[in-house]
Amino acid sequence: MVLSASDIVNASILIVDDQDANVLLLERMLRGAGYASIASTTASHAACELHRKNRYDLILLDLQMPGTDGFRIMECLKAIELDGYLPVLVITAQPEHKLRALQAGAKDFISKPFDLPEVLTRIHNMLEVRLLYRESKHHRRVLEQTVHKLREAESGLRSTEASLSKEKAALDEYILQLRQANEHLVVATIKAHELADQVQAARDQMDYAAQHDALTGLPNRLLLQDRLGQAIEAARRQERPLAVMFLDLDRFKYINDSLGHAMGDQLLQSVAQRLKGGLRHSDTISRQGGDEFVVLLPNIEHAEDAALSADKILAALTPPHHIGGHALHISVSIGISIYPDDGQDTETLLKSADSAMYYAKNGRNTYKFFEQQMNARAIQRQSIETGLRRALERQEFVLHYQPVIHLLSGETVGVEALIRWQHPERGILLPEEFVPIAEECGLILPMGHWVLREACSQAQAWIQAGFPPITVAINTSAFEFRGKDFIENIRATLAETGLAPHLLELEITETVLMSDSVSTNSVLNALVGMGIKLAIDDFGTGYSSLSYLRQYPVDALKIDQSFVGQMTSSADSAAIVSAVISLGINLKKRTVAEGIETAEQHALLLALHCDEGQGYYFSPPVPAGEFAALLQSGVLPLSEHRHRDTI
Ligand code: C2E
Ligand code: MG
Ligand code: MG
Repeated sequence: MVLSASDIVNASILIVDDQDANVLLLERMLRGAGYASIASTTASHAACELHRKNRYDLILLDLQMPGTDGFRIMECLKAIELDGYLPVLVITAQPEHKLRALQAGAKDFISKPFDLPEVLTRIHNMLEVRLLYRESKHHRRVLEQTVHKLREAESGLRSTEASLSKEKAALDEYILQLRQANEHLVVATIKAHELADQVQAARDQMDYAAQHDALTGLPNRLLLQDRLGQAIEAARRQERPLAVMFLDLDRFKYINDSLGHAMGDQLLQSVAQRLKGGLRHSDTISRQGGDEFVVLLPNIEHAEDAALSADKILAALTPPHHIGGHALHISVSIGISIYPDDGQDTETLLKSADSAMYYAKNGRNTYKFFEQQMNARAIQRQSIETGLRRALERQEFVLHYQPVIHLLSGETVGVEALIRWQHPERGILLPEEFVPIAEECGLILPMGHWVLREACSQAQAWIQAGFPPITVAINTSAFEFRGKDFIENIRATLAETGLAPHLLELEITETVLMSDSVSTNSVLNALVGMGIKLAIDDFGTGYSSLSYLRQYPVDALKIDQSFVGQMTSSADSAAIVSAVISLGINLKKRTVAEGIETAEQHALLLALHCDEGQGYYFSPPVPAGEFAALLQSGVLPLSEHRHRDTI
């Protein structure tokens, strides 16, 4: 805090004195000393008001004045200068007044008469003190204000700090939430990825399932079609052939029926494995369903390559399959079609291979290439199916009858009813041409009903015509046998026609016996219970398991004509015939030899103690009218040039 000389000389000074001369004198002294801001008054009562207005730095105050004296003025000044510091320099001639003046608030004295240096010194000192005081006061105020401001700032800072720390906490919380949200997001993202993977895996699985066979894992029909389509495209571009092989297992049905589906399934899996092993990686092996497989050979040079692959497949399937403690033998029939000769699209190629497979079936365990005439055959097959549907309504079926001869006595003891179809365009058709088709399309059931009724009423008619009663044998297909109303229909037909049940013999095939044993047993027992006889037709050609002979109440074994036909030329066939007859004798079953054509066969069968026989040697199957004539005249063994049906 530094006071300059100009601060002092510029200080404001008021002179209060009732005598003009004193005022003038003091003014002159002060101006002479350099003071610039000097006011004065001789009206003492105005002094206090002047100070209130102008706030002088120094008041030179005369004590003795008429009216308002110096003491009264100081009283008044105290009300203005609240801190009690009166900038008053008292002018007095009486020293006794000095103490009172000090008590009234005066700060110093100037004695009259004025001593110039003393007056100026006192004024200077007073001003210095006054200004310093004022300045310190100012600084104090400033300091106080600063302190106040600082306090405010501090409290502001504090509240800012508080709100900052609140905000920081909120921020921390927010960051934490963000972090957690981020973690959740990461977890969710991982989960989403996992889920997406799972969805993809499920989709892949579904795609796979849609294109593969569940049992064998092989491509299915759908995938094969796809690959075949692509292979045809490639073959077309490269001008190369390709081969399609249609495979059908031989006698799979018998195994499936006799050993159960579980084993059948295992066998199919085993076959699938062998097929895979026997073919190239680029080949597609697919399962079409059931026991059918299709193999696509996209990379062949010549048709002969397909024959090599077919040979490989046949060889691969030859060793027995060991399943459930059984050694199962299964062969396969293969039909082959070649692009572009046998078809230029998937459908035709598959159809051609399928047709060829049917031809291969005749030989079994073999393959056949497609030939154009097989197509004609397929068309013919189609027309037979259509024709069959109308044959029943139009009564185009007829039965022919073949006598069954008791070999020892030569008497006609029975008759076998054999169906024929009088086709409006093609003449008489034999069963082999239409029975398998009727079985496939289900028409075998109404056809069987018709045969049963026709045969029973015919047999009953002969009895009523006076002929001795003979057994009438009817061929039943496995499909009929499984029909729900099979037993009921027989019972009703016997009742309607009046034929005695013991005169009816049902010829069943080994297939029937091999099928589901519980229901088979109950149906067979029901038939036997009714007094009906049972014979096993084509004995020896089926899936050989002799145990069912003990199990089922069978009356007769019909020795298949293929053995009888060759028994005089083949020792093996003779041995089989001999064995079957021995079996019949031991198990107390009648033996009936089919297809006896020669006296030689007749003699041999007699020697082997075969009970009965039928064949061209005695008579071919003949229409009912002719059969009545035979009954009338008695059947005589005929010369060997008599052949086939009398049509
Ligand atoms: P199957 O029951 O074994 O009938 C014997 C077949 O041998 C008959 O053929 C008969 O004409 C023929 N045959 C008879 N004697 C001789 C002979 O000395 N030499 C030769 N080579 N053959 C002889 P068909 O009538 O053509 O019948 C064939 C098969 O059709 C039958 O075999 C039978 O399984 C089936 N069948 C015939 N009629 C019916 C029927 O009404 N219903 C059913 N489901 N199948 C029938
Ligand atoms: Mg028969
Ligand atoms: Mg037969």
